[in-house]
Amino acid sequence: MADDDVVIAGAGPAGSALALRLARAGVKVRVVERSVFPRTKVCGEYLSPGALRELETLGLGKRIAAHAAPCHGIRLYAARGDPLALAFKDGEALALERCVLDAVLLEAACAAGAFHERARVEGVIVEHGRATGLRVREPSGLLSERRGRVVVGADGIGSVVARRLGLAREVCAADERFALGGHIRSAALDGWISMFAGAGAYFAVNPLGGERANVMLVLRQREIAAWGGCVDVCARQRIARLVGERAPLTLFPADGRRMAVGPLRQRVRRPDAPGALLVGDAAGFLDPFTGQGVWMALEGARHAADAILGVLHGDVRERWAWRRYARACRRSWLPRWVLSSGIGLLRNRDGLAMRAIEQARAHRTPATALLGACAGRVSALRRPPEQ
Ligand SMILES: Cc1cc2nc3c(=O)[nH]c(=O)nc-3n(C[C@H](O)[C@H](O)[C@H](O)COP(=O)(O)OP(=O)(O)OC[C@H]3O[C@@H](n4cnc5c(N)ncnc54)[C@H](O)[C@@H]3O)c2cc1C
Repeated sequence: MADDDVVIAGAGPAGSALALRLARAGVKVRVVERSVFPRTKVCGEYLSPGALRELETLGLGKRIAAHAAPCHGIRLYAARGDPLALAFKDGEALALERCVLDAVLLEAACAAGAFHERARVEGVIVEHGRATGLRVREPSGLLSERRGRVVVGADGIGSVVARRLGLAREVCAADERFALGGHIRSAALDGWISMFAGAGAYFAVNPLGGERANVMLVLRQREIAAWGGCVDVCARQRIARLVGERAPLTLFPADGRRMAVGPLRQRVRRPDAPGALLVGDAAGFLDPFTGQGVWMALEGARHAADAILGVLHGDVRERWAWRRYARACRRSWLPRWVLSSGIGLLRNRDGLAMRAIEQARAHRTPATALLGACAGRVSALRRPPEQ
């Protein structure tokens, strides 16, 4: 017998946004999250125009804007030369610390009636080929079960739910990448995001308001492995090589305040199984270069809520609802993946990347369209608004 209508693993943007939508529709929903909130997380602090539109549909636009810093635009640097710049209109994109974004979403979900529980999901209960609940380790160490009519994996990269349901796909590990970064203080910030790419790595600086910024160095695991124990020195040298003389900012958090995230991969064969859905990064992860992750997580939560409500209300059979959800995920994922892969190819070839930026400066309209798609101003499928 199910205790809840829906049990969700993970209270990131995908899990909390889904819980919020379901709770508002009167569904009995439980979110199981292993971390204590508010928690520091250095991923997803750039909120793209697409992500802000989704937050607006949740009625959280004003609350988010009240805590966030304006993002004036993005400057994209190749290995050498001047950047390609994309300016945002006022409020079109924002920067917000994840501890605030996650707390706002989860608080809104709980205020709407969702139940939040701190525990680690360790497995999925499968009976007669159907997911019927989560196995959770409570903070006391006790292993117990949380049953629901629908089980959702919103537990991010490396999703336990995706693995336990056999949905996760093995990805070639030869080119595994990690992100190293955290928060810094600098007087040299101007509200623009700077992305420095070259030789298979990139360094991103995302100002968070005042003198604070999120900085992130993304590079191959084998490069980090070759540094031995000298991460502090080698990371700074690598950043200096990427930034050159073009910006005064080469600060990087020292050991103890630095966070590592990775491997940066999550692919699934499909985002659904009998009785279960995957949402957000658990359903597939894109390189963070294009800053689309939060948008996709919130969009995925909207599609998942539609599918689950259809099933719970008896309007549609689960098989059809899940099929429609999987199609929506593919439509959301594919164009962004193509875009992200294309950018990744350019990023790994300095000559090509520099030529592309020169061409982009000469042809502003397609360049703005492309950069707009990368920055999450428009969907990678849709035409950009007229400038
Ligand atoms: C380095 C980096 C930088 C990024 N920068 C940006 C950016 O600027 N803008 C942007 O839009 N996107 C960015 N992204 C992507 C973005 O962070 C993700 O796409 C987004 O957070 C996905 O949300 P989610 O809810 O699916 O997953 P997550 O945010 O990862 O949330 C998953 C939640 O599940 C919980 N969880 C995991 N396992 C368990 C378990 N076993 N039991 C219980 N709970 C569990 C976790 O604690 C977490 O709270 C970045 C990603 C990385 C790696």
